[in-house]
Amino acid sequence: MDFLIATHNMKKRAELERILTPLGIRVLTADMAGIELTDVEETGETFEENAYLKASSGSEESGMVCVADDSGLSVDFLDGAPGVYSARFAGEHGNDEKNIEKVLEIMKDVPKEKRTARFVSVVCCCFPDGRHFSVRGECEGLIAFEKHGSGGFGYDPIFLVGDKTFGELTAEEKDKISHRGNALRKFAEEIKEYI
Ligand code: IMP
Repeated sequence: MDFLIATHNMKKRAELERILTPLGIRVLTADMAGIELTDVEETGETFEENAYLKASSGSEESGMVCVADDSGLSVDFLDGAPGVYSARFAGEHGNDEKNIEKVLEIMKDVPKEKRTARFVSVVCCCFPDGRHFSVRGECEGLIAFEKHGSGGFGYDPIFLVGDKTFGELTAEEKDKISHRGNALRKFAEEIKEYI
């Protein structure tokens, strides 16, 4: 079965593909499907709202089943920020380096026990007939004092689970514990009701 994936983030797409392919789902980007999707403005205040905005727009425009992930980092010391603004925390959309620098600078004097945070991923699936569902996955961790590792994307080099950051994990190790991996495992269960 072909599903359209509404994302421009190639690393995120690779994660979705790794986990959905074993379910017999072929994930196509708009480019691969030969269609052009409108860039949806992420105006929602929650991950759920933004994931739905992206998936419903993609499904309406393409006539295909469309899956979108909205995700981000929620830091307790920052009252949940950057949250839905994770991609643009330092102003410029998708500048991972600047986003990381900003978090490290704000948190530089915060002791380890107050550096708790979680990654959140909401994956929404919309069908052309209007049916839809969302699943949410989380992963608890700590904000590191400095960057470690160069794997993954986004805030991975400063997100510690145990003694390693996500940036130090292999793709498979990250999938096993990550917010997106957890959301997609729920997705795998839920999708059985629809196909
Ligand atoms: P979105 O594309 O609007 O969902 O923005 C997600 C943003 O959250 C990304 O640009 C990253 O900054 C951050 N993020 C989401 N998932 C991850 C992850 O798995 N690792 C690191 N950063 C992530």
